[in-house]
Amino acid sequence: MQTLIAGADALRIPLARNQIDQFRAYAALLAEWNEKMNLTAIADIEGVQTKHFLDCLVGLPLIAEEIGAPLPPRQPLSCVDIGTGAGFPGLPLKIAWPSLKLTLVDGTSKKIRFLGEVVDALGLQNVRLVQGRAEELGHLPHYRGQFDLVAARAVARLNTLAEYLLPFARREGLAVVYKGPNASEEFIEARNAIELLGGDTVRFAPVEVPDLDEERRILLLRKLRRTPRLYPRQQGLPRKCPL
Ligand code: SAH
Repeated sequence: MQTLIAGADALRIPLARNQIDQFRAYAALLAEWNEKMNLTAIADIEGVQTKHFLDCLVGLPLIAEEIGAPLPPRQPLSCVDIGTGAGFPGLPLKIAWPSLKLTLVDGTSKKIRFLGEVVDALGLQNVRLVQGRAEELGHLPHYRGQFDLVAARAVARLNTLAEYLLPFARREGLAVVYKGPNASEEFIEARNAIELLGGDTVRFAPVEVPDLDEERRILLLRKLRRTPRLYPRQQGLPRKCPL
């Protein structure tokens, strides 16, 4: 885990030995399960440390700054990760920020089974796993408007993703969106959607992932107004006809 340790250090994210052990166990399970089923394109130990763990952790200093918290934050905020796949960005954030109350959402049951195994093996508390589609869960009172933080990486273009994410955030809550090289183009395309859904852009920050020579941006949206009841529209529409 040397790459992770050095990278977290560069990001000024403190990780104790037991947290490093959790990351190591997570990487091992990812490699093991990936032999049986297609969880992720990246499962080699170096790739996992940079392109998954550090790529997710790079958002944490920005979140901390925005909520006025130390690194790692200590508040037990609630966070939902939409389209988490093999647990990204939610689980690396949770390992680094143990008091986070995390909900992981994915449409695919095999991913949820994998996540259950990881949560058990790592002994993580306060992690809820939900199999379902954002378009449906975003209307349930249990989830709608309930979260301090909503996060996603590599799920959809921003105009679609805004419709998945913003309904889950409470008013004054924060959406944290991980984006790659197309971020600017997607951002321009999504401005209307963000406004319509009650969001407001607070940061659109270029970030550097340690040991990774690729463009990354983190978009932080604050939810200022309640999302109109119409959204998210029914399954498939946010992707087929983005706002
Ligand atoms: N966030 C992860 C996985 C990205 S792949 C990562 O960064 O590695 C996209 C994932 O989003 C897939 O696992 C897919 O099942 C899930 N997904 C896509 N659209 C969804 C929707 N509308 N509701 C719930 N999950 C969705």
